[in-house]
Amino acid sequence: MAAVQRTVIENCAIATVDAKDTEYARGHLVLAGNRIESLGAGPAPEGLREVVRRIDASGHLATPGLVNTHHHFYQWLTRGLATDRNLFDWLIALYPTWAHIDEPMVHAAAQGSLAMMARGGVTTAVDHHYVFPRGAGDLSGALVRAARDMGVRFTLARGSMDHGEKDGGLPPDFAVESLEDALAATEETVRQHHDASFDAMTRVAVAPCSPFSVSTELMREGAELARRLGVRLHTHGSETEEEEKFCHERFGMGPTDYFASTGWLGEDVWMAHCVHMNDSDIAAFARTGTGVAHCPSSNARLAAGLARVPDLLAAGVPVGLGVDGTASNESGELHTELRNALLVNRLGVHREAALDTRGALRLGTYGGARVLGRADEIGSLEPGKLADLVLWRMDTLAHSSIADPVAALVLGAAAPVTASFVNGRQIVENGRLLTADEDAIARTTRAEARRLARIAARD
Ligand SMILES: [Zn+2]
Repeated sequence: MAAVQRTVIENCAIATVDAKDTEYARGHLVLAGNRIESLGAGPAPEGLREVVRRIDASGHLATPGLVNTHHHFYQWLTRGLATDRNLFDWLIALYPTWAHIDEPMVHAAAQGSLAMMARGGVTTAVDHHYVFPRGAGDLSGALVRAARDMGVRFTLARGSMDHGEKDGGLPPDFAVESLEDALAATEETVRQHHDASFDAMTRVAVAPCSPFSVSTELMREGAELARRLGVRLHTHGSETEEEEKFCHERFGMGPTDYFASTGWLGEDVWMAHCVHMNDSDIAAFARTGTGVAHCPSSNARLAAGLARVPDLLAAGVPVGLGVDGTASNESGELHTELRNALLVNRLGVHREAALDTRGALRLGTYGGARVLGRADEIGSLEPGKLADLVLWRMDTLAHSSIADPVAALVLGAAAPVTASFVNGRQIVENGRLLTADEDAIARTTRAEARRLARIAARD
């Protein structure tokens, strides 16, 4: 067997985001194969064998790679539309267009979404994909292929909708699946693509879209399917006041009680948004270990409200960050969400005590890993964990005079990424992707966005 190859990174500040928030003002990291072998203050130990690369990271901050816990890649093709609507009106405006997506469109959109995140320090991404129009091709396969080719660690949350217009739902009928088809296709996707191993690059979760686009049977049977297959569960929850009203009218209870009644609370579940939660909802999430994907920009863009992140954290609820789909967060970046999370949460009742800079970085790294059930593998820089990490450049005009590198990363301008490693493999260098051609992706996504707009205009 070939000896494991080592990469040595030295002379950088390090924010490990371990349990003690250990930081080094000037330290080193040793990567061996796809793992972090060691790290600490000062230079790397002498006498290391099989060192194939040494990086002088002076002027940089090293952090764990960012973990994006909620996104809808296909929306890369419908950015900048319905810009002044709330969630339900925005969905009604966009569903007729989304219903025309096909495999080449979804593949291009996934490349755009992944590229934008990767060049901003995301090393693990989730795509919650729930629009499967009839005859659209192998959309799940296209998503998995795009992530694999770009080298980003990936969870495909295989979504579904079975509650279309004829049942009083929001999506057009030809964009929804039957209960049986949705469950069968989800099970097939898990069997084809899910990898349960420690260093898996691809996982699959069962992810019916939301209480208002999915039947109670699909929620309940989806949860049973996930547990039978040993995979995680994901959905949207408690996003808006309108959703809360919908749940009370249709089910006679609020969203969290509805989730409890359908098997959707548990440590294998994470939910996007969770904005409109009362104290007993938060207690139920804490008691069951249900995780939250906090999406501050999307919640603001759709005027959904402000999630009670400080209360969720105080109760012990796992919380990560999400970009959400780029039809409601056109930037598509996660590193800027560290700043947005801190800022918007300080507008809530906890004011300046809501979230600090280390807390914001934790949400975007370890918090996300915990929400995805992968806290033993990723989310902090510790010996034995997977080599998913980012070197942020802190010695340029934008950041060099900011006293503290973590404050510079969270509060300053979007920091340039000098290097990003996933599973020990470098995928970004000096802000450019090494695994894909950004300019080609920009052209393809523009062409596919226009094709989608043309097809939708024919209706
Ligand atoms: Zn979403």
